[in-house]
Amino acid sequence: MSAAPAPGHAPELSLVVPLYNEAENLPELHRRLAALLDRFAGEAVLVDDGSRDETAKLMDALSASDPRFRSLHLSRNFGHQAAVSAGLEYSRGRAVVVMDADLQDPPELIPELVARWREGFEVVYARRSGREREGWAKRLLAWTYYRLLRRIVGLDLPADTGDFCLMDRQVVDLLNSMPERNRYIRGLRAWVGFRQTAVDFVRPPRHAGEVKYTFRRSLGLALNGIISLSQAPLRVATYFGFVVSLSSFLLGVFYLIQRLRGHDAFVKGWASTVIIMLFLGGVQLLTIGIIGEYLSRIYDEVKRRPLYVVRRDAGVARKTTNEG
Ligand code: UDP
Ligand code: MG
Repeated sequence: MSAAPAPGHAPELSLVVPLYNEAENLPELHRRLAALLDRFAGEAVLVDDGSRDETAKLMDALSASDPRFRSLHLSRNFGHQAAVSAGLEYSRGRAVVVMDADLQDPPELIPELVARWREGFEVVYARRSGREREGWAKRLLAWTYYRLLRRIVGLDLPADTGDFCLMDRQVVDLLNSMPERNRYIRGLRAWVGFRQTAVDFVRPPRHAGEVKYTFRRSLGLALNGIISLSQAPLRVATYFGFVVSLSSFLLGVFYLIQRLRGHDAFVKGWASTVIIMLFLGGVQLLTIGIIGEYLSRIYDEVKRRPLYVVRRDAGVARKTTNEG
């Protein structure tokens, strides 16, 4: 947990921005965030998630020329959710905004988020009322996923929201105190409760550069979302077991009756036998897989390794990991 700032010195607003190979976006990001920081007394916490391009160098140059920009360098690529967690722990603002570096989360929306916060909402999340220039497949997947997640999890998870949001210090402290490593920040944010509200925006395309979230990573995040918030998939095994047992019982009764009535015409049936065998094998593998997903996360949690490692903090000298 980050050290408490000296009283009276907490900036009003912190902007937490994870960056992974975002050198092309940094100049524009700086320009637009600086304008914002002129307006609100604030700081920007840039988290370099082990970038391999010029990002780290540019960030340090930025911090040297503008002390409101703090640069945190992780020791390797820990992933977006971990980078955001690092930023949250090092931020000091009374309100904290989490946003992407590629300007898909338009900084111009932030004054509106702040306005709602000042009205008394502890969490103000930005909701995508549209996506510009993203393929229909991605849009359809995202649409289906968020609605499925809501149903399975049974939490008031707002659909079509990402990590772009403003959170009150109280909520940020709470998130920082959560020990879990498999973090699905937008889910935890819904879990904490408090007064929450949405601000709508149309998600613009990336300012520059390539998408860093590959399909595999997005799938991983999506799985984490369900598994970190719900035990429902574990129940799938129980349901399958119940349905299969019931049908085999009914089938048994059916065969018995046929037998007693003197019909014995069930020698054929190779196909049905094979189908049933394959079906049962599939169900068993599926449910073992689901148990494995939880098991691997439990293993990961009990190891209690830090979520990220800070190699260097171009700003105030601080501790090197997030462990107490
Ligand atoms: N990012 C990161 N670490 C990673 C992957 C991405 O810090 O391993 C950052 C990236 O630099 C960007 C944000 O996370 O600021 C969102 O990534 P991206 O734009 O690629 O994903 P999408 O827009 O599809 O959510
Ligand atoms: Mg993006």
